[in-house]
Amino acid sequence: MIVADRKSLQEILAMVKDDKKILIVGCKGCVTVCNVGGLKEVEILASSMKIARKKEGNPIDIDINVLERQCDNEYVAEISESVNDYDAVISLACGVGPQFLSEMYKDQTFYPGVNTTFFGGATQHGVWEERCAGCGTCAIHNFGGLCPIARCAKSLMNGPCGGSSNGVCEINKDTDCIWDAIVRKKMEAGELEDLMGVKGIKDWRTARHGGPRRSIREELVQGNI
Ligand code: SF4
Ligand code: SF4
Repeated sequence: MIVADRKSLQEILAMVKDDKKILIVGCKGCVTVCNVGGLKEVEILASSMKIARKKEGNPIDIDINVLERQCDNEYVAEISESVNDYDAVISLACGVGPQFLSEMYKDQTFYPGVNTTFFGGATQHGVWEERCAGCGTCAIHNFGGLCPIARCAKSLMNGPCGGSSNGVCEINKDTDCIWDAIVRKKMEAGELEDLMGVKGIKDWRTARHGGPRRSIREELVQGNI
């Protein structure tokens, strides 16, 4: 899932400081699962903003809506009749959401209410950790099922580096060295030999380095692309 954190109330209030009537749009996808952009969070943000603006003597009118997904035009179209009734719209989806909204509703202003951070999952209640960097050529089978691209601070394909100490990464004392975990896992499996050969240079063109990417499934495409 995509993991995000909500922006501070102060930052969001500053974005709409001159607006009198806004819409906050949530998303029932990843941001609901990581508790930043579902119905509950949209309601909390709306209440907090109303209280803050009332205290300032500058009340604001706020409506809310939570779409099935903001990364799908079929659902984004659901607010077509009302979206221009507002001075501005705050999206609590990941960074994809406000872009889909901006592309469909060109006359409206959309603000991102969250900071999109990484692809990951919950390792315990209330804690999410990064697992994938979307490199476009998954190779975790070479590393005991663990990803050094996303989880090593240097994305090393051949590790560990000299900064690995007692299982901790040199980047900071709270970050495990994933290469230490990879080596240990391979040792326990009696497969350390697999790590002995030097891995060749990764082709980063399938990652972000190759520019914006597109995924096309011909069998699903209707009409021209
Ligand atoms: S190798 Fe690439 S696609 Fe696979 S988990 Fe790592 S970053 Fe993600
Ligand atoms: S200490 Fe480990 S995780 Fe940190 S940069 Fe070096 S190999 Fe990567």
